[in-house]
Amino acid sequence: MSSDKNKSEEEYFARLEREERARAQIEADKQAAVDARAAAKATHLQCCGKCGGPMTPRDFRGVEIDICGWCGAVLLDPGELETLAGKDASGALAGLANLFRMPR
Ligand SMILES: [Zn+2]
Repeated sequence: MSSDKNKSEEEYFARLEREERARAQIEADKQAAVDARAAAKATHLQCCGKCGGPMTPRDFRGVEIDICGWCGAVLLDPGELETLAGKDASGALAGLANLFRMPR
């Protein structure tokens, strides 16, 4: 009987250890994802998403947009397209703003 009790305790503690390892692995995976995103951001900060060229800020109708110095791609921050489209819902910019609207 005593060995059954010992076996039961061993299984209990082994299960606790497995659960703790699983929790630790989940946390390690979450941190690895955060670190990978931070590394990618540091590598690509102020670089064109199409060609990797340098992005230069430029004022366009009161909105600071970023233009690639190599390929001419234009980058708009969240909300800038809506600002450029203004209140005219029938314009092309408003159509683009609706097409690319970010979920809030
Ligand atoms: Zn570019």
